[in-house]
Amino acid sequence: MSASPYDVIRVTASNASEYTQDGTNSWIVGSPGCADAVLIDPGPDDPVHLASVEAELERRDMRLSDVIVTHAHDDHLGNLWRVALRQPEVRLHSLFTGLPGCIETSFGELRVIPTPGHTHDSVMVWGEEAGVLFTGDTALGDGPTMIDYPDGSATDYLTSLETALALPGLRAVHPGHGRSRKDAYEVLGWNLAHRRARVDRVREVADQLHRDAERIVDHCYPGVAPALRPAALQNTQAALEHLFPSSTGR
Ligand SMILES: [Zn+2]
Repeated sequence: MSASPYDVIRVTASNASEYTQDGTNSWIVGSPGCADAVLIDPGPDDPVHLASVEAELERRDMRLSDVIVTHAHDDHLGNLWRVALRQPEVRLHSLFTGLPGCIETSFGELRVIPTPGHTHDSVMVWGEEAGVLFTGDTALGDGPTMIDYPDGSATDYLTSLETALALPGLRAVHPGHGRSRKDAYEVLGWNLAHRRARVDRVREVADQLHRDAERIVDHCYPGVAPALRPAALQNTQAALEHLFPSSTGR
């Protein structure tokens, strides 16, 4: 039996790709009969996905009060306008509307924690009472995320993961892509170690390869799929900026 004081429901969009894994997750957080369910990430611009979210709410007799967007990538933000048109009374929280520090609901408090790195505007949502953390694209269910350089930053990313790891009593991570994980600290710790290792790898070869990001990708990501090479390049550029901040002009 779950110790959670509220339900957490995953609705995955039909936008699977190399970058979105099996699709982007929208998360409904609420309690049956409570009039203030919260939607974390409305997902891509897709009426079918929004209909799936609405069907889940209806099935549980939940009504939406707030929507939080974890960051302004299209696959997380795209449906926001549809929610706004269909349910104008719902409060929207995103980069464009302003993000609150905290949302009070009848089932508990959800805190919005700035965690830049994947993008500059990335946030996590922390339900302390239940020990649940919605990580957006800062930590995925499986495997590493990417740093969307130059919007994102490896320096910020490492700090944000340390912030998340310092949260007490984590019982579950609910990511923007992939499965929920109960081994929350292991997932966050793995992401931190992975990013540090990637940065260390770039540090080892940077000078020998003239700090040339393309050459470093060839060396550090041998055999990377063509579709994922842009992400490898951005990760490498972010690592170079982290290691040599004065030479990247930011
Ligand atoms: Zn993203």
